[in-house]
Amino acid sequence: MIADNQVDIAIIGGGIAGLWTLARLRQLGYQVILLEADELACQQTGASQGIIHGGTKYALTGKLTHSSQSIQKMPQRWKACLEGQGEIDLSQAKKLSDHQYLWSNKNLAARLTGFFASRVMSSRMKSLSSHEFAAPFDADDFNGVLYQLDEPVLDIQSVIESIRKQYETLIFQLNIDQISAADESYELKDSRQNIAISAQRLILTAGSGNEQLLDSLQLKQPEMQRRPLFMPMLKARASILPRIYAHCLGASALPKMTITAYTLPVSSSQAGEDEVVWYLGGEIAEKGVGRTLDEQISAAKQALQELMPWMNFSQCQWSALAIERAEPKMSDGSRPVEPAVFRKDNVITAWPVKLAMTPVMVDKIIEQLESAQRGQSRLIFEKKQSTLTPLISLLTPAHTAKLPWKKVQHWL
Ligand SMILES: Cc1cc2nc3c(=O)[nH]c(=O)nc-3n(C[C@H](O)[C@H](O)[C@H](O)COP(=O)(O)OP(=O)(O)OC[C@H]3O[C@@H](n4cnc5c(N)ncnc54)[C@H](O)[C@@H]3O)c2cc1C
Repeated sequence: MIADNQVDIAIIGGGIAGLWTLARLRQLGYQVILLEADELACQQTGASQGIIHGGTKYALTGKLTHSSQSIQKMPQRWKACLEGQGEIDLSQAKKLSDHQYLWSNKNLAARLTGFFASRVMSSRMKSLSSHEFAAPFDADDFNGVLYQLDEPVLDIQSVIESIRKQYETLIFQLNIDQISAADESYELKDSRQNIAISAQRLILTAGSGNEQLLDSLQLKQPEMQRRPLFMPMLKARASILPRIYAHCLGASALPKMTITAYTLPVSSSQAGEDEVVWYLGGEIAEKGVGRTLDEQISAAKQALQELMPWMNFSQCQWSALAIERAEPKMSDGSRPVEPAVFRKDNVITAWPVKLAMTPVMVDKIIEQLESAQRGQSRLIFEKKQSTLTPLISLLTPAHTAKLPWKKVQHWL
């Protein structure tokens, strides 16, 4: 067992929450490292659709409360980072699209028009006329309404990789399976690798892994809820599946389907067109929980044919990903709309709830660190440069995970 490896702050969990926290805290001069059990973004972050929401989703569900209005600033905060002028540097990350579409059938057009004309939406939403329609909505048989929403969609792997590269000397692959509190520090253990690290403060950003970490610390609060999803995917040549980022709105306020698209480059040995993957979220993914893979694929085929009857999906290959969202527990089981940050002594536990809201989550973490610092010994909370050289040589760097569709072995 490696002993006396002491750091000020250990962040546990290398999804977007842990990585953004690492970047901000390093810039503020904290001595901090990040520990990831497996590969960076191997859970929710890598499985996300990469949409940087600005509150439209909550406006659609009538949940755009005063407090969740900070979400409206998220596209601008991310945009500044992508331009290299924000709170963290994402200038090497890629955007998949500057905007998303919202479409609906003709019979729902009146309801949508009224809603999108409302004050809260009009600045970000533009109604498109038919000559502006891009594929696949430019087909003669499409007779619905189409809006363009100015909220970007990001290539999440490039976001993660760009943060990893900037802080790679502080990011390690360790599966923390035991934590014990001693005097003024916490001992973190990876039993398999037989490594122990001592940290004065902990930030738990391990998504669903927070539950086991809190258990290990014998903390009963905060509690967590899991909301499972079964996300269908289909792939075909780019001429069959155009790259789109679009929400189909039905009679209820929740999108019936959210489609995001990714390129699967054709290997140099195979000539021809790149393939495109469509990844399907929204109602289809929520209702699909409990179905077998075959049943979910059939449901996805049927739903797409109903929502896009003018398209032909017969040449597509199919799969689906089962994944859980991890969030703070809501007393009524509902979906939280704001990031959640809790502090008990020197342990901060956080869930961003949405990838897009990570910057707000990290603001809250910094507030908690600074409020805990007031009235505490400067010896513990002094900000210092990293002096972890002996420890670093013993630890394995963490790599970025492949995206889910690149891991599918058998497309059906
Ligand atoms: C299918 C899907 C689609 C989504 N789409 C969007 C979207 O388009 N836009 C949006 O804003 N949000 C979206 N979300 C929500 C968003 O993905 C999550 O809110 C966000 O990624 C959570 O990030 P995280 O870092 O908290 O958790 P995670 O990404 O789950 O990361 C937790 C990390 O902790 C590690 N870990 C766990 N236990 C330990 C341990 N004991 N020791 C060390 N490491 C540990 C895990 O390996 C993992 O890498 C989506 C979520 C899902 C599931």
